[in-house]
Amino acid sequence: MIKKFMMPVLYATIIFFLIGCNNNLIKESKSNKPYVIMLSMDGFRWDYPEKTNTPNLDHIEKIGVRVESCVPCFPTKTFPNHYSMATGLYPENHGLIFNRFYATDLGKFYSISNRESVSDSSFYFGEPIWVTAEKQGIRSASYFWVGSEALHDNLFPTYHYDYNGAVPFEDRLDGVIKWLELPEEERPHLILWYMQEPDGIGHYAGPNHPETIEVIEYLDSLVGVFYNKVAELEIAEQVNVIITSDHGMGEISEERTIYFDNYINKEWIEYLDGANPAYSIEAKDKFYDTLYSTLSGINNIHVWKKEEVPARLHFSKNERIKDFVVVADSSWSLLVSSKKKAYSGGTHGYDNRNKDMHAIFYAYGPAFKEDYKRQSINNIDIYSLICEILNLEPAKNDGELANVIPLLN
Ligand code: AMP
Ligand code: ZN
Ligand code: ZN
Repeated sequence: MIKKFMMPVLYATIIFFLIGCNNNLIKESKSNKPYVIMLSMDGFRWDYPEKTNTPNLDHIEKIGVRVESCVPCFPTKTFPNHYSMATGLYPENHGLIFNRFYATDLGKFYSISNRESVSDSSFYFGEPIWVTAEKQGIRSASYFWVGSEALHDNLFPTYHYDYNGAVPFEDRLDGVIKWLELPEEERPHLILWYMQEPDGIGHYAGPNHPETIEVIEYLDSLVGVFYNKVAELEIAEQVNVIITSDHGMGEISEERTIYFDNYINKEWIEYLDGANPAYSIEAKDKFYDTLYSTLSGINNIHVWKKEEVPARLHFSKNERIKDFVVVADSSWSLLVSSKKKAYSGGTHGYDNRNKDMHAIFYAYGPAFKEDYKRQSINNIDIYSLICEILNLEPAKNDGELANVIPLLN
């Protein structure tokens, strides 16, 4: 029998126990929430791991998911594709049609080397994944993901930096890990981060060169360091990691170079967007037919009137896309001026049917199947995939969750 004078002690014990349970419940429900960390290594071609020694990616393939290739959007360039991965939208719908273009709707030029334009929100349409997350109460962070330097719906990721290619990759990696070590209330559940290799070396030396292979193997070793650091985190078991890229890389040579100015008078042109090997060109009105027939007569390139671009390329429905879309055939270079030196090495931007343009996609963590291989996926489906893992209501997008749901547990 409990003595009367013991009742307050008993009540206090019960209350203490209940509060304790409740706290545990809160802690548990908070700490059970998944994390998604997505890394993009620029220009990491789908088959680099087959041609080089990549033990860390090979390990991730065994414990997680690997798709044969990740298919980029056309044009297979850096900014259009990073922003497609972030929004689930084709470039014709998110507005970043090239790395550099004239935005006819705004009367302004966009260029990735112009800080002002890169951080100007008026160029960007659609809702990037970090905004979807922030709007729904999930903290996000970006270490140099394309588009995260501009406000979208008045939001930035909670943590972000302005791009600075000189920041060592190791520092970026440590920065990501530091975010994951923050106290729960401050910790981001969605982190996107970026390294600009092996794109740089791929352009310079070409996709099959020993120097490129060396960089690929170094990047793989960083993946290994990252994997080990994630494994040591208190929240390791809740972390889902995606390792992907924006496009691949095709071998080019000086002998396979076409110069516009050998065929076309620059007086015919109002605007010229893009860079080797893909462009969109606005003709001065009276030269529309001349420009089209001249472009059509050039060998080893493809030209389409804007309204005749094949539907599979999803590249016509935006006023920023000009009269003609022009792209060199695989392994050919298309340069504006013959005064410019021809390149050898590598490039990208070609039709996304060219498999050299395809990227890698690996993923592991509690949300993903183990030792699971699959055919190619489209990079516009990544937005829906991340929304599904983080339990977010997706914004309107061009992706299809059904295409990627088989990757998940
Ligand atoms: P690409 O011309 O398509 O090969 O573009 C790759 C280049 O984009 C790399 O050399 C990067 O340095 C650059 N880059 C990537 N992210 C950014 C950014 N946020 N701002 C400016 N340049 C960037
Ligand atoms: Zn790129
Ligand atoms: Zn590049």
